Amino acid sequence: MDITFILNDLNDAQREAVTLEERHALILAGAGSGKTRVLVHRIAWLTEVMKLSPFNILAVTFTNKAAREMRGRMEQLIGHQAQGVTMGTFHGIAYRLLRQHFEAAGLPQSFQILDSDDQKRLIKRLLKAMELDETQWPVKQVQAYINGEKEEGRRPHHIDPGHNPFVKKMLQIYQAYEQQCQKAGLVDFAELLLRAHELWLKRPEVLSFYQARYKHILVDEFQDTNSLQYAWLRVLAGGTGKLFVVGDDDQSIYGWRGAKIENIRLFEQEFADVKTVRLEQNYRSSGRILKAANHIIAFNTERMGKELWSAGEDGDPIRIYEAFNEYDEANYVISQAKAWVEQGGERSDVAILYRSNAQSRVFEQALIQAEMPYRIYGGLRFYDRAEVKDVLAYLRLLVNRDDDASFERVYNQPTRGLGEKTMQTVRDLARDLGLSLWDAAKVQLESGLTARAKGALSGFLDLIEQLQIDTQGKNLQDQVMMVISRSGLQTHFEKDRSEQGQARVENLDELINAASGFDKAPPAEENPNPDDLDAAISDNPLLNFLAQATLEAGDNQAEAWESAIQLMTLHSAKGLEFPLVFMVGLEEGLFPSKPSFDDPFRLEEERRLAYVGITRAEQKLVMTYALRRRLHGTEIYSGPSRFLKELPEDCLDWVRMTGQVQSAREWASPTSQKSQHNEAGFAMGQRVFHQKFGEGTVLATEGSGDHARIQVNFKHAGSKWLVKAYANLEAV
Ligand code: ATP
Ligand code: MG
Repeated sequence: MDITFILNDLNDAQREAVTLEERHALILAGAGSGKTRVLVHRIAWLTEVMKLSPFNILAVTFTNKAAREMRGRMEQLIGHQAQGVTMGTFHGIAYRLLRQHFEAAGLPQSFQILDSDDQKRLIKRLLKAMELDETQWPVKQVQAYINGEKEEGRRPHHIDPGHNPFVKKMLQIYQAYEQQCQKAGLVDFAELLLRAHELWLKRPEVLSFYQARYKHILVDEFQDTNSLQYAWLRVLAGGTGKLFVVGDDDQSIYGWRGAKIENIRLFEQEFADVKTVRLEQNYRSSGRILKAANHIIAFNTERMGKELWSAGEDGDPIRIYEAFNEYDEANYVISQAKAWVEQGGERSDVAILYRSNAQSRVFEQALIQAEMPYRIYGGLRFYDRAEVKDVLAYLRLLVNRDDDASFERVYNQPTRGLGEKTMQTVRDLARDLGLSLWDAAKVQLESGLTARAKGALSGFLDLIEQLQIDTQGKNLQDQVMMVISRSGLQTHFEKDRSEQGQARVENLDELINAASGFDKAPPAEENPNPDDLDAAISDNPLLNFLAQATLEAGDNQAEAWESAIQLMTLHSAKGLEFPLVFMVGLEEGLFPSKPSFDDPFRLEEERRLAYVGITRAEQKLVMTYALRRRLHGTEIYSGPSRFLKELPEDCLDWVRMTGQVQSAREWASPTSQKSQHNEAGFAMGQRVFHQKFGEGTVLATEGSGDHARIQVNFKHAGSKWLVKAYANLEAV
């Protein structure tokens, strides 16, 4: 038979991997070397040449998006045969398994999945029933504890609390949680995997059925499997199934969620007779991009060691842009993306990758202004995120007490003991008397309510009234800050130490930054184009801010059919590739993130993330950093990321600012371009020379005449304020 369609587009090492006899195999190789391609072709080899039924094959991927793409590639290769292959994520497969064998798994037929939010709510109710104080036992900490134990495969009876009172209590909660879930027929994400694992252990007849069925198990992105997933695979493979795992230790980026790189080594040790194949040719990236990737990852010490080479052209150097601030950064990126499209490139070939979700806001704003369709993957657009909507709801209530939707959103967010029952009487009253919830609540306070309900309800109304008084006359940024802290939202989100909790706090800070752009609205007569509807609608910054937030949360995201620029975190970019990639925000403290500074393990994980980012690029890679950025409500000047310094100089092209620097406000309304030079005679972003400190960039100026002060960020001496009259700065 003709098998060229399976082998033609493969190199020797890939071909070796694809055509291995039936045995365990580990394909260990760097980014873009064709691991995923090999996995797909291996399936074709098994069905077409080895004549295995697709029914005997199980393929596991890391995300649903990856699973869809893999199925597509497989269908191209083997047509309808592809449909017989079982394929999905670990969670998806576990779910199907439990549905099939609910009884054996000890579940009711109608069991339901508990998502992360539902899980939180359940824990909350539980804590209340157990009379535990939420400030002492934060819901999210309890949640992280339970999920963490499950991911390690531990049920309460496996845990010995010893004399540790903290663990004792957590254990009690874990036990109560389990009982509750069991009673209600609920299964959380970690439970899916744990149950599926226990199903193997408890029901040998079920296990042997699947062991006989899945003769071949193929796993992509193996470096990011956690202990439980690994154990599940091991039991399923048993003595007969053959595992074909592909992975790259340099791309392990989920250590913070329990993934274990060690699983790669463990696999080689625990399974007899593993054939390891290494792929070394990279087909994705141009020479310089690849060289940079190899160079930076070599700074890590904990590596299994691999080199990648490419037969392709050197390609363009990696462009590094030093932006004046985050707006300048976004402007630059969008202008480059525009140029790409004007030269005939596709929008969907362009990806903007960032470390933290909060960074997307400024880019979203710039893209909307440039009228470029975009799509955000693996996350919500900034103004659609729950915590951002919470704050906006408070702000809306300040402006308009009759905004029932906002009232509903935050009356008990964060929890203030204002229960569903009380709210229902308020709702009924509002409906009967035709009042807003706010007015109905006031009426209700006068009539029958228990003392507790009364306290909670009036507490909420008073909070809003008091906020209104206290924010009076303050600038918008302070107003937003006040609302975030006094509403209790700040503390509420800060209690959550998980990555997600941190992200929420970052988004709140980012909202404060967003507000600062609205404070100094120019007086109406300065608006050069009075017909411009985009210009200030009102002289109340809060109203302008809320209007923009609503508009931006609307339907700006590209239509499904539209070719759109892709925005995503570096984490969600794993496995993907794009002709043009922007990696943004390469600053110390942001990427690598601050908590990783003192933790060598985390720092290496950040570096692996940088490696993942760089290796997403096919033709062009642009990396940017800002000299100054608003983060957590303050200006920071943390300097370029160490990762930039770890790149090989001969692959780089440093681009300086063009002098077209704008402040947040000017940037927000492009019609009001102001003169770049100010009273102090220097332009922001201008490069200057100082006798003692050397070369630097002007960051800010203050005052005029002899008293003018100027802030310069010196290349070696850092950021300094100087008196202009004495500084003798020269323009360079
Ligand atoms: P990652 O580590 O990022 O997941 P990977 O090792 O899975 O990468 P693939 O995505 O399979 O790599 O392949 C990278 C690119 O190289 C793809 O566009 C793929 O089609 C192409 N490619 C792989 N092998 C070959 C080959 N032998 N000839 C031509 N193109 C190839
Ligand atoms: Mg891959």
